[in-house]
Amino acid sequence: MEKGLISVDRWTGYSQAYFLTHLHSDHTQGLSSTWAKGPIFCSRLTAKLFPFKFPGFNLSLLRLLVIGTWHSVSLICPSSGSPSFLQVMAIDAHHCPGAVMFLFRGDFGCLLYTGDFRWETTSKRAEIGRSMLVDALKNDVVDILYLDNTYCNPSYVFPSREIAAQQIVDIIVSHPEHDIIIGIDTLGKEDLLLHISRALKIKIWVWPERLQTMHLLGFQDIFTTKTSLTRVRAVPRYSFSVETVEGLNTMHPTIGIMPSGLPWVVRPLERGDKLFGSLLTSRYNRSNWSGNGGNQTEKPNGHLGSVEQFHKYIYSVPYSDHSCFAEIGEFIKLVQPTNMKGIVTSSSCYVDPLYYFGRHCGANQPAQSLPHNKRKERGERVLAVKNKTTFSIGASAGSERKRASTVNIKNSGIHMSRMSALRRKKRGAKIVENDCPN
Ligand SMILES: [Zn+2]
Repeated sequence: MEKGLISVDRWTGYSQAYFLTHLHSDHTQGLSSTWAKGPIFCSRLTAKLFPFKFPGFNLSLLRLLVIGTWHSVSLICPSSGSPSFLQVMAIDAHHCPGAVMFLFRGDFGCLLYTGDFRWETTSKRAEIGRSMLVDALKNDVVDILYLDNTYCNPSYVFPSREIAAQQIVDIIVSHPEHDIIIGIDTLGKEDLLLHISRALKIKIWVWPERLQTMHLLGFQDIFTTKTSLTRVRAVPRYSFSVETVEGLNTMHPTIGIMPSGLPWVVRPLERGDKLFGSLLTSRYNRSNWSGNGGNQTEKPNGHLGSVEQFHKYIYSVPYSDHSCFAEIGEFIKLVQPTNMKGIVTSSSCYVDPLYYFGRHCGANQPAQSLPHNKRKERGERVLAVKNKTTFSIGASAGSERKRASTVNIKNSGIHMSRMSALRRKKRGAKIVENDCPN
């Protein structure tokens, strides 16, 4: 595809049409209320949430895509001036409200861009998405799959969100006298909170802006901003920290729960730093939250329970809105692309999905080194740093040109102090607030 035709989750440079997979901040860097570069294609739910994220946005620029339906987009070939043929279908990405993948086809071939996605096979909704994708692909071969490779490493083993949600309910039930705080983002993990509310028949506290989002999403009665009505509070992830939970415990017994697919560990930073929760390579030192001596808990479905208590007041539960390694594999086997690229890159822990799954593609499997595992072998710790690569089909598809990347410090659940963020900035990483690592 020629450069300058379309961009997906990329807002720098110029294209004729822009596509937004979902509204998490790491996919909207460069997008603002004053956007005027061109039309933005997104799902109906993303469009509904748009004014809340970007007040004053010119909504006439939004083009709604009905999920599961092919839409034609008229473009002009920049080099020849002739019309360019493009069709696009949005498919539910099961990630956060409004999140979709985009399947493109046209003169350039067939491209599938997952955005962030979770490919569970255990829910009815997932089955619908699977059927939709299979039907859409019946006459096409995906030439390039742009893949959410956040957890494209065999060490990322976690259960379905339904199971993880129940693990969180179990933790809450086992602490009947405690207040509970759960770290969440500005969008996403609503189903988890609904599960907790229904299972325990309680309301969930959220902060005022989050309550507005909940109302936009149609949840009128479950959430509240009155702390007196519930002992379970969903708090902004940036405010969730060891210090916060310890401070709350000086007033009332409180348990913090961080739903995250990332493995966590508490480790000291440099001398004088406080304890710091971080992405770590190892998932093999898990302890069972009920205190069975540190053994892993095998669930009946074969998934590891993998709840860990990494601080006396804080539990990490692998509730993830991204696909685990096995699910990524299942997805690739289903799509069988000719080639694929990861949309999340990182100098510290990026693994080219071709390394593990190239055998399912027409492409050769690269003999790529695995910095992630090498560090583990050397006993080094991997920092909670990921680079989120934004994407422009016009700029990158069909070419080996290195894509522009935005480096994000993934706010890996535990609060990253300004001090540590600044320290990293001096190391050369661009720090941006991240909305969506888990
Ligand atoms: Zn996301």
